[in-house]
Amino acid sequence: MTSKFLVVKCECGNEQNIFSHASSPVDCKVCGKRLASPSGGKAIITNGTVVKELEE
Ligand SMILES: [Zn+2]
Repeated sequence: MTSKFLVVKCECGNEQNIFSHASSPVDCKVCGKRLASPSGGKAIITNGTVVKELEE
């Protein structure tokens, strides 16, 4: 299993680092939209776009 950080760009324009296997929901710090939801494995990006993947 490869752990990564994802740089996710929210619909509001905010870019935020998210752990690829986040175990709790991640909300955008600016607009509060749910960016990622835990799935038991790799988190599901629910809003926004992955613009970059950072190897841990
Ligand atoms: Zn946002």
